[in-house]
Amino acid sequence: MAIYNLGSINADFFYHVPHLPGPGETLAATKLTRGLGGKGANMSVAAARAGAHTVHVGAVGHDGHWAADRMMEFGVDTRHISKLPDTPNGQAHIYVDAGGENSIVLFQGANHQIPAETISAALSEASTGDTLLMQNETKDQPEAAKIARELGLYVAYAAAPFEAEAVEAVLPHLDFLILNEVEAEQLEEATGKSPDVLGVTDVIITLGAKGARWLHEGQSRDFPAMPVTPVDTTGAGDTFTGYVLAARDRGLPMEQAIALAMRAGALMVTRQGTADVIPDLKEVDEARF
Ligand code: ADP
Repeated sequence: MAIYNLGSINADFFYHVPHLPGPGETLAATKLTRGLGGKGANMSVAAARAGAHTVHVGAVGHDGHWAADRMMEFGVDTRHISKLPDTPNGQAHIYVDAGGENSIVLFQGANHQIPAETISAALSEASTGDTLLMQNETKDQPEAAKIARELGLYVAYAAAPFEAEAVEAVLPHLDFLILNEVEAEQLEEATGKSPDVLGVTDVIITLGAKGARWLHEGQSRDFPAMPVTPVDTTGAGDTFTGYVLAARDRGLPMEQAIALAMRAGALMVTRQGTADVIPDLKEVDEARF
């Protein structure tokens, strides 16, 4: 079995600044670091580190070949990442002040230029029972979801960054929907329906330090989080999503998949950084909480 992840790939530039710049202000950064980011890349790395054959479907720009190489080093199948010669890579410019507060500017770049042929070529390799995962940092999600459903794939969507119209466009094709607490409220406001009556087989609402809720066949089950002291909560949701789907793809029942993802998410919040520090299965198994 395999996970096909139609997802974004960003270069994350972290500028350490004494304070967040105001209008018209020019500010010197004290440090600049570059890392692999983007919700898509994070989820692919998490799913691969969790032991699933993970095929990333996406695009990098002329300045982003290193990002695809980094994903390959983490065990992601990168054959369906297109290298676009005339387009800059997706980027996030993140200003972090001394207190850890941040401001972020995103540039979609290659993530919104993924050729339709890249998506169809990847999906033509997929088999019934494989998973298609998507988030909201690429284009063509409804088209991909529709093809995947017809092929008998398990279609999963992480509703982030949240946009009501984007969720509503894929909703009829979904088997699995994952949202955090805020996104779940936004979706309920937009649709007028609570997440358990959307017609999606599995809905997971992640609740940060309070754990996660699984809505399935009219039942709601809460899973408590592992007790940890968080250092940096970035990427916790992406790690959880990659892990829960990887575990399901490897044949674990959903309860066990969620329990494993919960451990991975908890370990992730004890680490500074995103894709580069997502724990592998051995670390998650060995972690003591
Ligand atoms: P997002 O990053 O998308 O907002 P959450 O904050 O809900 O997602 O976190 C996703 C998952 O990561 C949670 O369901 C939980 O398992 C784990 N997690 C997040 N924050 C903590 C925390 N403070 N302590 C323990 N686990 C956490």
